[in-house]
Amino acid sequence: MKAVVYQGPKDVAVTDVPDAEIERPTDVLVKITTTNICGSDLHMYEGRTSFEKGRTFGHENMGEVVEIGKGVEKIKVGDRVVLPFNISCGFCKNCERGLTNYCLTTQPDPSAAGAAYGFAEMGPYGGGQAELLRVPFGDHNALRLGEDAQDKENDYVMLSDIFPTGYHATEMAGVIPGDSVVIAGAGPVGLMAALSATIKGAAKVMVVDRHPDRLALAEQIGAIAIDDSKTDPVQAVLDETMGLGADRGCECVGYQAHDPQGNEDPAATLNMLINSVRFTGGIGTVGVFVPQDPGAKGELAKQGKAAIDFGTHWFKGQTMGNGQCPVKKYNRRLRDLIAADKAKPSWIVSHEISLDQAADAYRNFDSRSEGWTKVVIKP
Ligand code: NAD
Ligand code: ZN
Repeated sequence: MKAVVYQGPKDVAVTDVPDAEIERPTDVLVKITTTNICGSDLHMYEGRTSFEKGRTFGHENMGEVVEIGKGVEKIKVGDRVVLPFNISCGFCKNCERGLTNYCLTTQPDPSAAGAAYGFAEMGPYGGGQAELLRVPFGDHNALRLGEDAQDKENDYVMLSDIFPTGYHATEMAGVIPGDSVVIAGAGPVGLMAALSATIKGAAKVMVVDRHPDRLALAEQIGAIAIDDSKTDPVQAVLDETMGLGADRGCECVGYQAHDPQGNEDPAATLNMLINSVRFTGGIGTVGVFVPQDPGAKGELAKQGKAAIDFGTHWFKGQTMGNGQCPVKKYNRRLRDLIAADKAKPSWIVSHEISLDQAADAYRNFDSRSEGWTKVVIKP
């Protein structure tokens, strides 16, 4: 089968790899109909992880079931399904508590937790930027879609990761109706956090970034755009909230954050949120921060360090939730909002491409080229 394969830093190619197949009785095999490029792929694409050459990318996947293992009971051949990026078992200590993002069964390293398709440090699983994908524990991991699956393909595919992830940021921040919410980042994840805050009834949603095309997408759903290359975002949030600060903040950038001058500062967004969220407000951090890379001497990000203003955070009595999104916790109800035409996450899709165009798309998405917000691949 054809797949998007990692060749080395900033180098992907579409090559032939062995077909994905059923390996265990609980597996299902999915023919991929849509698979996205994600900001998380860029950590590997840019060569900042231990991702091995030859591995296939792709953790935001949707498709049609073409084969099922002998132990699969609920999922049937022909079902249209969307797959959470987390690969989880459903019966370990963490899954039992709904923490499928930290499954202890599907991660082969016993000192680690959490597995994903086509991802560094998260198990040996193949990615879905390919023609076929093996889905472990298919009954548990595949979410079935209704008759409208094909018509709303670009909406439902967002249930694999970024829509639940944006929603998770608002959950960890504690967004309730009437809140004011500041979001760091107008990338795909930040825009999904803005959509989620709106769905939850936030009175005011403010999105900070510096790319005009991405800020314009935030404005399309009624958010206030704050360009941090032109204004101090903390002051802008205080001005919008009568000097109090926002009730909630969502971090949707991660360790690649830049300060207003454009210099690398993994703490830039966290400090912006700590200083613009009110006393006792909540912050949800879904942007990726990685642990220390033992070999790293240069970039702060590689050293796993972010100099956050902990004193202010503590003094203000703020709360902060961090980490990966447990997609299964939210994808069913977000699916039903899409089905009922009450959410349309596909408004951020900028490019629909074939597998063969992936290398060019990675280059453009990685350089945040004007107009490249979200790429969906149709294998
Ligand atoms: P992206 O890189 O396309 O978007 C990030 C945006 O942040 C860019 O538009 C950039 O201009 C902006 N930005 C940079 N510095 C900023 C600053 N100081 N203030 C405001 N904005 C700033 O990526 P994405 O696809 O939106 O993903 C965002 C992050 O979320 C990544 O770290 C990704 O790995 C992570 N992620 C986490 C999960 C999870 O489960 N926790 C899931 C998916 C993605
Ligand atoms: Zn993703």
